[in-house]
Amino acid sequence: MKNAAVKTDFDPILVKFYNSTIKVNKCPYCNSSSYYRHGKYKFTYRYKCRECNRTFIPSTGTSIHHLKKKKVFLKYAEILKTDGILTLRKMCKRVGIAPLTSFDWRHKILASVSYNDKSLGEEALCKDVWFLYNLKGRKGIGFDNKMFIKNLKDLDKKTSKLVAADGNSGYSIKLAKVGSLGVNDIKRVLDMKIKGTRRIITAENKIFNDFAKNLKIEHKKIKSEFIKPNEIRLRKFFSINEDFRHWINYSFRGVATKYIQLYANFYSYCRRKIYNPLTISVFKKKYIWSIFTSMENIYKSFLTNYSEIAYTAPIKRNWKTSGMYYIESKKISY
Ligand SMILES: [Zn+2]
Repeated sequence: MKNAAVKTDFDPILVKFYNSTIKVNKCPYCNSSSYYRHGKYKFTYRYKCRECNRTFIPSTGTSIHHLKKKKVFLKYAEILKTDGILTLRKMCKRVGIAPLTSFDWRHKILASVSYNDKSLGEEALCKDVWFLYNLKGRKGIGFDNKMFIKNLKDLDKKTSKLVAADGNSGYSIKLAKVGSLGVNDIKRVLDMKIKGTRRIITAENKIFNDFAKNLKIEHKKIKSEFIKPNEIRLRKFFSINEDFRHWINYSFRGVATKYIQLYANFYSYCRRKIYNPLTISVFKKKYIWSIFTSMENIYKSFLTNYSEIAYTAPIKRNWKTSGMYYIESKKISY
């Protein structure tokens, strides 16, 4: 069944959704709070910014921005909320969309989950989590793992390193580098989170030892195979990291390094509660379109700054309005 009935934008479900969930708070172009109503647009209002003079509607810049099949998107988001992220094929079948659409919608929804940047508190558990550098989706790359990794030293260089941490504010995981992890990489990704932390607990790992020394904080090392059954918090932390790896490697058969941070944010959030992509707070985020359309550039600058490998085989998809919108640098996922 193709979704033939989605032509009307005046569908009562959509009207209701716009009225109840999508609020106007800032100009999506310049972030100004000074705007006024400027006529109607279909079933909603158009607004005009006093600062930059541009007009916009409540959904401009959000995950639903520019979509023709808005109602199908709502159904898609509902499925993602209840069943988690399904494979592209399953999603295409369930809502009747093309694979690229399904892929895009997934990433727009994932982009609306913020990284947990809250403080870890006095004591933090830390660990590095790695994946093989992944170029999935890049055409023309004769990708062969055996050729790619010639020896173990090479393996380290071609591995994406993420830093997982757990403390008062819950679990978080962040992409730090492609290549060997250094103290500065850990410092950079834990940044504000580690302020006020007096002690870190890690599995035996020299780099975290150096990191603790550098910050002049206490470091407790444990051997993961010797964690006692009653040390529930530790056991849980190490199993979460394994679970995350498993989720990426088996549920999706790997995720492109370009997108790994989006999945990491979603995963971390879902440790605490169910993610609902259709709430007022999600639609307050007017920078989703901006993140979504700039992913390739964000990824490129990440590789240039924090990796030992070169950026190759660019994916060229162009959006006319990419880069027109306001985006706070801290909203950029890595
Ligand atoms: Zn403006």
